[in-house]
Amino acid sequence: MISDEGSSSKLRGRLAPSPTGAQHLGNARTFLIAWLHVRCQAGELVLRIEDLDTPRTKAWANEQAIDDLRWLGIDWDTTAALQSSRTDFYLDVLDELKRKHLVYPCTCSRTQIEACWSAPHESFLDGVVYSGHCASRSVEDSKELDAKGERYAWRFRFGEGTIQWMDDYLGSQRLDAKRFLGDFVVARNYGPPAYQLAVTVDDHFQKITHVVRGDDLVYSTYRQLAIYGALGWEAPHWLHVPLVVGPDGKRLAKRHGDTRLSQWRQRGIGPERIVGWIANSLGLTQTDAPISASDLLAVAIGLKDWWHRIPKEPWVLDVERAGKPT
Ligand code: GLU
Repeated sequence: MISDEGSSSKLRGRLAPSPTGAQHLGNARTFLIAWLHVRCQAGELVLRIEDLDTPRTKAWANEQAIDDLRWLGIDWDTTAALQSSRTDFYLDVLDELKRKHLVYPCTCSRTQIEACWSAPHESFLDGVVYSGHCASRSVEDSKELDAKGERYAWRFRFGEGTIQWMDDYLGSQRLDAKRFLGDFVVARNYGPPAYQLAVTVDDHFQKITHVVRGDDLVYSTYRQLAIYGALGWEAPHWLHVPLVVGPDGKRLAKRHGDTRLSQWRQRGIGPERIVGWIANSLGLTQTDAPISASDLLAVAIGLKDWWHRIPKEPWVLDVERAGKPT
C-alpha cells in the first residue's frame, strides 16, 4: 500500500516549507535550527514542500523556497514528493481511521462552530474549540450525506484524558486535548486532506525521527500524537523553537518590514549576514558578524546540545535592521 521512504535508522529530520508565500527571516531561523540539529549529529535531512494548503499555495513559491534554502547554505539529502501528489497515501490512512471509527463526518460550518462555542470568555489555546455537535455521528452516516451531496469534514475523535509528551527543547508537555483543543479536522469530502493528517503520514513514512519546527505548532503536536497513537505508530522526537516576532510581540508580518529572503538575495546581500544575525539570536555567536552556514555548523558541532542555548523567548526583530541588514 504505502512504500517506506526512509533509508536507515539514523537521525532523520526534515525541512517542511509551505509555499503559501515568500520565505522570510522567521522561516530561515527555523530552517537553520533544523539543519544544524541534523547535521551536528550526522543525520539525514529530507526536504518536503507542503503544498496542500490550496488555494493559498503559490506555484512560484516552491522554487523560491528551494532557492532561498540553497542561498542560505542549507542542504538536504532527499527531496520528498510534493504533498499534492500524495493524496492517495493520506486517503488510505484516512480509511484506516474510518475502519477504527476514530473519525466522524462533521457538517458544521465555521460560523456554526464559532456560534456554538460555549465559553468565548475563556482564553483559547489554539483556535476555537469544536463543541462536538456532530460527534454522535458514525462513519456510516457519511453515506447518507454523500447521497444528499452534502459537504462535510472528517473529524478525529480525541480520547478522554490528558496527553503527555516530552519536547526535546521545551521539556515536558501535558494537556487535556479533547477539552482544550477539541476534535479536529483530518480531511474533507471536498478539497485536499488536512495538514494534521498529511504531516503525520509523511513524518511516519519518511521515517522522520526528529521534527524541529516553530512553537506555533506545539498544540498541533497533541493532534498528531493522537493520530500516531491511533495507528500504533511510533512518534518522532519534537523540538519546538520560539518564533521571530515584531516589536509589538506579534508573529513576523509584512508590517514589520520586508524580511523576505528573496528580496535580500536579489539585492545582493550576502547570506552570511542573515546567518550571522540568526546565529547571534540563537546564542551561538557573541556578535552578529557575518558567518556562513558551514562555519556556523562547525561552531555548533563544538558545543554539546547547542540547541539548549536558544533563548526561550521569541526573537524580537529589530525593524531598522530588517530593512537594511549591514
Ligand atoms: N509547513 C509548515 C510551515 O511551513 C510546517 C509544518 C511542520 O513543521 O509540521 O509552517
